[in-house]
Amino acid sequence: MRRGTVVHLGSFCGVTIRAITPFVLTAQVFPVFAFKNSEFNKEVTISIGNRGTVGPYSVRLFEINGNTARISLSNAMYSWEQELQEQIQPMIGNITIQDMIRWSRLHSIDLEGLRPMCEDQNTYEAAMIYKIPMEHTNLLSSGWFAANHACSSIYIPIHICDDDFYDPYETGEAAALSLALLQKYGHGNITSLCQSVEKVFLFENEINEALAHLMIHADINISSFLTELDNGMQEQAFLTEQLWLSAPNISRGIIQDIWKENYTMTQQNIQRAITLLICTLGSDASISTLEKIAQSISDAQSKIAEIQQQGYYLHAADIC
Ligand SMILES: [Zn+2]
Repeated sequence: MRRGTVVHLGSFCGVTIRAITPFVLTAQVFPVFAFKNSEFNKEVTISIGNRGTVGPYSVRLFEINGNTARISLSNAMYSWEQELQEQIQPMIGNITIQDMIRWSRLHSIDLEGLRPMCEDQNTYEAAMIYKIPMEHTNLLSSGWFAANHACSSIYIPIHICDDDFYDPYETGEAAALSLALLQKYGHGNITSLCQSVEKVFLFENEINEALAHLMIHADINISSFLTELDNGMQEQAFLTEQLWLSAPNISRGIIQDIWKENYTMTQQNIQRAITLLICTLGSDASISTLEKIAQSISDAQSKIAEIQQQGYYLHAADIC
C-alpha cells in the first residue's frame, strides 16, 4: 500500500493510509464523514510488527519498504475473536473453571489492544461461569459468580439446588464492594489475591460436591447441605473483600497471604495474622473481620465433618 491508498473489505467504507515513514504508518477510516463518532475517526499510528484499531477495522503492519507498506486489514470484531480463540483453542477438551475465570479477566493489553473481557467502560459488569455435570444435572449444576468486574471480584460458587444466597449477593452490596476495590486498587492489581481465595474455594467445593454426590445416592436431600456451604464461601469472599478494602497499609502484608490451598491451612494463617495484628495499632476492625471469616470456615468444617461421620462415603464403591 502507498500513501493515500484506500483499503476496503468488500464495502464502500474502509481505511485510508495517511502517511508512511520508515518505521510507522498512519491510518484513518474512510470516508471520515461516515464515522462521525470522534472515537472512530481519529488517525491511528501503527509501528512495524504491531496492530492498531482504526474505527471498526483492525490494521496490522508487517513491513515498510520505501513508501510502500505491507499490511493486513480485517474487521476489529473478527480480530478480537481470533485473539480469544488463540487463548481458548489449546485448552479445548480440558477447559477448567480456572481457565474460564482467567479469560473473564483479560484486559485490552492481553488482547493486542482489542476489546477487553473485563471492561472498564462499564461501571457494573458481573460475570457468571456455569458448570453442568453429566450426572444429577438438576441438583449439582453450578455457577461461579463475580459480583462486578472480574479482575477485582472473588468468584463465589452457587448450586442449582441452593435455596438461599448470602444477602449482600442479593442486594447489590457485593457488587458495590467489588467496584470500591477496583476504584481503590485499579485493574488487575488484586487479581492474584482473588485467585488465592478461589483456589481454596475450588478445592473445598470439589469435596463438597463429592459428598453431595454420595448423599444423592443415599437418597438424602442435598439442598440445605450445599446451600450452607455455598453461603459460607459467599460470606468468606465478601468479608475478605471488606478486609482488603479497609485494612490500613501497615497490616496489608499480614492479611494478604491468609488464603492458601485449603480451609485448614487458611485457618492456621488467619490465627497467625490475628496474633500479629493484636500488636498492631488500629487493627481492631481487621481482627474482627478475620474472626468472622475464621468462624465461617469453622462452621463449614463442622458441617463437612458431620456429613462425613454419617458415613455416606461408604457408598462410594457402589457409585463408581
Ligand atoms: Zn479489570
